[in-house]
Amino acid sequence: MSLFNKFVIETDNDYPHLLITAGVHGDEFESIRCIHTLINQLPGNLLKGKLTLVPCVNTEAFLLGNRTAADELDLARICPGDPNGTITMRVGHELSQLIRTADYYIDLHTGGIRFSVHPLTGYLLHPDQQVLDCSKWLAKSFNLPFIWGTDWRLPGRSMSIACEYGIPAIYAEYLGGAQCSEEGVSDYINGCLNVLGRLGMMNRVQPESRVKTIVEDPRRGSGHMQVCHPAEFDGFFTPTYSLGDTVQQGDVLGTVRTIDGRYTSKLIANQNGTVIVLRTFSMVRKGEATVVIA
Ligand SMILES: [Zn+2]
Repeated sequence: MSLFNKFVIETDNDYPHLLITAGVHGDEFESIRCIHTLINQLPGNLLKGKLTLVPCVNTEAFLLGNRTAADELDLARICPGDPNGTITMRVGHELSQLIRTADYYIDLHTGGIRFSVHPLTGYLLHPDQQVLDCSKWLAKSFNLPFIWGTDWRLPGRSMSIACEYGIPAIYAEYLGGAQCSEEGVSDYINGCLNVLGRLGMMNRVQPESRVKTIVEDPRRGSGHMQVCHPAEFDGFFTPTYSLGDTVQQGDVLGTVRTIDGRYTSKLIANQNGTVIVLRTFSMVRKGEATVVIA
């Protein structure tokens, strides 16, 4: 029995197979709403190929209102999973098997309950030039303003599985902070439709490009958001900047104050760039990320 719901739209010709997933993390809502809309609007409109839509990969996490299921494993860190493991390991296995059947892959995320992310499309800097060019082309087609290419060697993600099998793939991020932004839902729907159009799977008049910035960061570990500017101790986080702001190395990105309010530590930017992820949840535990700069 399948651990998550799949909605498949087929035509006479099953190439290309495009897979779009949401809810790899259970607290990322724009993505799930986007897939719900596609499920209700797309049947009958596909010219060729096969489209698999997964509205919520991590159902248990969604029902808990959390990023992860009760075993607290991050589904985007444990792929290819294990068919005999805990719930997240089993879901990871099923997701990885599904990704291997795709010709192109889009994985929709947001910042979840605790973070907000500057709208962006990401891809891995794949060592195979053809896969890399195609992933970049997908990212441009998706048409969010910011594009971020990062280290392909990060393990355990849905993107890592696509990378291993040479499948052109992108992920997207859009705000979060426990909200469900209408603009985010609509940009995600349009992004998916743009890609379907570019792949010739449906008729689509392509909009003008909104892409403003493309950053490629080949450093080892780039794209791993959970380790950036960690809090020195448990406490209360207050940011200094907003999403999309430009910062310089050495700038004070925010502060963490001890729970008793008596001691404050400053978070200092370790590089120049744009603030692309911001913690929106004021409580922070020691070692947790606060701000990501691209
Ligand atoms: Zn996510």
